[in-house]
Amino acid sequence: MAYSVAVRALCEFTAKCGDLDLRFTPAPTAQEGIAGHALVASRRGEGYQAELALSGEFGPLRVRGRADGYDPDLNRLEEVKTYRGDLARMPANHRQLHWAQVKVYGWLLCQQQNLADIELALVYFDIGSQKETLLSERHRADDLRAFFEDQCRRFIDWAEQELAHAGARNTALETLAFPHAQFRHGQRQLAEAVYKAVSTGCCLMAQAPTGIGKTLGTLFPLLKAFQRQALDKVFFLAAKTPGRQLALDALRQLRTEPLRVLELVARDKACEFPENACHGESCPLARGFYDRLPAAREAAAKQRWLDRDALREVALAHQVCPYYLAQEMARWSDVVVGDYNYYFDTSALLHGLACANQWRVSVLVDEAHNLVERARKMYSAELDQLGLKALGKSAPAVLKKPLQRVGRIWSELNREQAEDYRAYPEPPQKLLSALQGAVTAITDYLTDNPTTHDSALQDFYFEAMQFGRMAEQFDSHSLFDLSKRPGKGGRDLSRLCLRNLVPAPFLAPRFAASRSTVLFSATLNPRHYYSDLLGLARNTPWLEVDSPFSAEQLQVRVATEVSTRYQHRASSLAPIVELMARQFAERPGNYLAFFSSYDYLQQVASLFAREHPLVPIWLQARQMDEAERQAFIQRFEAGGRGIGFAVLGGAFGEGIDLPGERLIGAFIATLGLPQLNPVNEQLKQRMAGLFGAGYDYAYLYPGLQKVVQAAGRVIRTTEDRGVVHLIDDRFARPEVQRLLPNWWSMEKPRASP
Ligand code: SF4
Repeated sequence: MAYSVAVRALCEFTAKCGDLDLRFTPAPTAQEGIAGHALVASRRGEGYQAELALSGEFGPLRVRGRADGYDPDLNRLEEVKTYRGDLARMPANHRQLHWAQVKVYGWLLCQQQNLADIELALVYFDIGSQKETLLSERHRADDLRAFFEDQCRRFIDWAEQELAHAGARNTALETLAFPHAQFRHGQRQLAEAVYKAVSTGCCLMAQAPTGIGKTLGTLFPLLKAFQRQALDKVFFLAAKTPGRQLALDALRQLRTEPLRVLELVARDKACEFPENACHGESCPLARGFYDRLPAAREAAAKQRWLDRDALREVALAHQVCPYYLAQEMARWSDVVVGDYNYYFDTSALLHGLACANQWRVSVLVDEAHNLVERARKMYSAELDQLGLKALGKSAPAVLKKPLQRVGRIWSELNREQAEDYRAYPEPPQKLLSALQGAVTAITDYLTDNPTTHDSALQDFYFEAMQFGRMAEQFDSHSLFDLSKRPGKGGRDLSRLCLRNLVPAPFLAPRFAASRSTVLFSATLNPRHYYSDLLGLARNTPWLEVDSPFSAEQLQVRVATEVSTRYQHRASSLAPIVELMARQFAERPGNYLAFFSSYDYLQQVASLFAREHPLVPIWLQARQMDEAERQAFIQRFEAGGRGIGFAVLGGAFGEGIDLPGERLIGAFIATLGLPQLNPVNEQLKQRMAGLFGAGYDYAYLYPGLQKVVQAAGRVIRTTEDRGVVHLIDDRFARPEVQRLLPNWWSMEKPRASP
């Protein structure tokens, strides 16, 4: 069996040494890189061959890749590297890696075309000046062959180990048994649909209720399909930490020896020296990182189970950074569990690796209803004038002029806009070019002063770059707006936003890059809302898993006598309190009550406490930390009594599990509709234009999704019994009821007492 490896991956494995150095190196964006390569190729003569596919073999190794360009007239093979800033500052180990790559390509070409020798060139293309620096060397084919074979020999033990691992893994997965005596209700249906999706190479949207074991029901079929579908990796992506933990628990239950499992955590959670910078002079775990990496990598691969703690242990035993060791191990793991952003963000690690290595990957997106909002954030950018003002005072003299130019044009925009908020058809070109000028000036400054630790400057720099990138891709999927607020001395300050409203154009290529992507959640209804916004074809297979729960388990009562609309709030307080007290007296136990805002929550809670002082209540507060959130949840004890007051769409509206008597009912005194404000009104307009359903896409669907999630806290197992009070007359409307789970049976509205 052959082991296929990309030239770049081979060289990164064999030719990287020395320190990890993430000091300020202003890397070009992917688009700038592509444009730079194209420009270099366009400057070459007619016979120039760009993007030359090359491959060769050595023992069980198949080495493949695309060389950037070959000029047959000059017999010169070029490797193009785009950069910004001062080339002299490029660390020596980067240069060494570049030479290794071009030498490997050199041999592959000599072999293919029977050449006795060849000129190899590194072409460094400066994105700023568009100038090329060419370093070239002449090599004999024999020497290049020796170099190639040496690289292969240094990789071959690892490749053989990887082949043995893949064989053992595939054999184990073929015979993998479901860890329970039987599937839960609906779980088999889900597992079969996931298996079919990966077998036919398509995406799947699956709405499956809580309690059927979705995590196990999606991971198990993918592992069973691993060999048959020749998968390289499975990525399990979660919106929040508890989702990651559920995936790790399911993988443990499956006892998937010798599968390699990796958990990716954010840098701020994995870093051992948060005060330091990521380079050898500052952080001991970056110093000599690549020299110690081979031993750490080998130990980590043997360890196989690399959750956060296990990975940290290996990393520290070998004195390398745990965060960057995890990034390395993403290359060598079978299942990677991490946040959405590792696959969907603008420059996502897992997506980048999958493309570069041509991996066949299957992606699971847990609680996928969250992806709409999360992806909107990933593809949005904003700039606050306050940040620029502060920077104006502290910035070094050389940056004053370009920053002042940005400030001047920005203030002009403020003056030209009479109202506090306005959306524009596109971002203003004058401002964008001033921002670009500032970014270039800051790039040069930071390149000349790489040890600068001005966090205000760096923040503005990264925000301005993100703004520029998003502006380049501006289209009907996004909105540009300016929001003013009064500043000192009567001068307005403002915030500029490029808000992504429809992430579909950015996400669709990510789905296309996978063998299959399964998006699953308890609330993906209505499906066209999610497929339109996420970029899934309207004919993407859809599965609605039957609920294991029966209508008898949950009483759903609609309080039509109450309106929770803003203008009716004051008069709604007494009936809500009365309804809650009546329910509590009828069946004492633990309840959750959801409101649209902290203010509303406070008003109801105050009245309730006054009128029913003997009923224990506890309240969600703004900005609770992890310990406070835990304390709130722990008050829901089996056999306990009381009411927890929470905000819909907040920390307690989804992702918490309170089975049995820990929670026997919920009061939902809101439709969860997003606030009526100019931004949401713009969203509504855009949704109307794009999908013909402005109000539904901007307000109704996101609101009801939160209601259903919150109500879903009550029934967690087939033994649970509970009640949900939907408190607002609008819950009786057919267009609202259509969005509620079809296993609910709605009781007739109660007459007011
Ligand atoms: S330990 Fe922290 S500072 Fe050191 S290299 Fe890792 S992430 Fe950077």
